[in-house]
Amino acid sequence: MFLSHCLLDENTRYLGGACRRCCVREVVEQCMDRGIGMRQMPCPERVVWGGVLKRRMLALYGLERRSALGGALARRLLPVVLRHVRRRYRAIARRVANEIDDDLRSGISVVGIVGIDGSPTCGVQRTLDVTSAVRSMTRLDPTALTVEQQNELVRHHAVPGRGMFIEELARALAARHIVLPFLAHDLFAELDGRRSSVAFGAGPSR
Ligand code: SF4
Repeated sequence: MFLSHCLLDENTRYLGGACRRCCVREVVEQCMDRGIGMRQMPCPERVVWGGVLKRRMLALYGLERRSALGGALARRLLPVVLRHVRRRYRAIARRVANEIDDDLRSGISVVGIVGIDGSPTCGVQRTLDVTSAVRSMTRLDPTALTVEQQNELVRHHAVPGRGMFIEELARALAARHIVLPFLAHDLFAELDGRRSSVAFGAGPSR
């Protein structure tokens, strides 16, 4: 089973997004109980946005409050930045797709991929409207920001659809004629303290 990185290590979540001390146990235990090996995919946001603290993303918080010009510039440049981010995610997605391809060619069954619904990157059925979310981020006061406010922002800008990395991964797999189920752990259910409802189906296909 290929898992989004933060299912095994919540440290890579956005600030305020980690609810568990380590991993999403229900997903891990399901793999263990069924004798399924776990492969941790890279965290695309950690890779592209400046490490585990995502320092490049942090710079956006309160930008418009500090400087109207800075806020306007950030909005103007956002489409360019997002195109660059997508290119970087695409490269990661291709590496993961090559790994899956290698597994299948080596006779290893790949059960599926588990993403994170609610993530702009790893969402499977629910993602984030990044443009409007960034606009809200630039207006926040970073010195007074709470976990609750941060998570409210994420919920507020949630929209149906796939995250950028999952979109690119699906595309990379399709190019290799690989069909796998995409499952999703629900971030918002986790934020509410509910158990993960991810349920694994049957086997791989090509
Ligand atoms: S959802 Fe994806 S991008 Fe976000 S922390 Fe988890 S692995 Fe990283």
